[in-house]
Amino acid sequence: MTLNIHKDQIRANNLKHQVQLPDGTTVPAIGQGTWFMGENPALAKQEIASLRLGVELGMTLIDTAEMYGSGGAELLLGEALQGIREQVFLVSKVYPHNADQKNAIKACETSLKRLKTDYLDLYLLHWRGNVPLEETAYVMEQLVQQGKIKRWGVSNLDTDDMQELWQEPYGKNCTVNQVLYHLGSRGIEYDLLPWCREHHLPIMAYCPIAQGGSLRRELMINKTVMALAKTHDCTIAQLLLAWCIRSGDVIAIPKATTTKHVIENAQSSAIELTMDELAQLDQVFTPPTHKMHLDIV
Ligand code: NDP
Repeated sequence: MTLNIHKDQIRANNLKHQVQLPDGTTVPAIGQGTWFMGENPALAKQEIASLRLGVELGMTLIDTAEMYGSGGAELLLGEALQGIREQVFLVSKVYPHNADQKNAIKACETSLKRLKTDYLDLYLLHWRGNVPLEETAYVMEQLVQQGKIKRWGVSNLDTDDMQELWQEPYGKNCTVNQVLYHLGSRGIEYDLLPWCREHHLPIMAYCPIAQGGSLRRELMINKTVMALAKTHDCTIAQLLLAWCIRSGDVIAIPKATTTKHVIENAQSSAIELTMDELAQLDQVFTPPTHKMHLDIV
């Protein structure tokens, strides 16, 4: 009973922390990732339970990709979504080599089949390959027309790619850019994040608790980070998530497979960092002062 009341509170708080997409749809600032899920049958039950608990706690955006586990993550997610599909904002990603006129429709249909659903809420180009952005944008629009996806976006595109996309027919219909972002990897703050803000395009932050990217080891042993976590009576992972979503226009998609981690992540939106605390973090993990390569994993 106590746990149920607690769950309601956590969910209510996540409902308060939403990010608005360009079409006005709102999604929770903290969602869930699925990379490395669906790869070990012995873990499937636990992974499904984690994702479902996360949804219950208000982390209703779930990110996956045709690449993860060669379709295994989508298959697992298809199981996890049974009975709760309509509560979830479902995101998947297409391989760059499939993001063309010839292959994208089939790739999307295959993802839908694995996910046991007939539409995606968001479909992303996983990273830029050899297919012209114009062609990808065109085929994404076709998928929207066919009702297979509600909207589309991109991932791992830097500022120059975004500028190019914006010049293409339909390019401005891009809804989100999913990139690596955490306190130890702030390169996007120099130009990509400002560009996206100027164009009202939310960033979806992957590796928000620093599974990959720059300075990840330094983060976990940093005295300021540890002291602030103590002040807020939270873990370092929770502090990193709170930092990631601090501005209200960034969506973080941590991946977690234990009940403890899922609950911690869901509680992170309740942590409010003060201006002074953010300034302390800026002192140790400084914002970029020049153009940096886009961090990727
Ligand atoms: P994350 O930063 O989310 O880190 C995941 C790791 O953190 C796992 O080992 C997990 O362990 C652990 N963890 C989760 N919650 C906690 C917690 N509260 N305390 C301590 N440890 C915790 O990295 P990801 O690489 O998974 O990124 C998130 C998601 O972003 C991916 O799952 C994927 O959906 C997406 N992504 C997209 C990419 C792209 O190119 N577009 C690239 C990489 C990721 P455990 O599983 O044991 O709970």
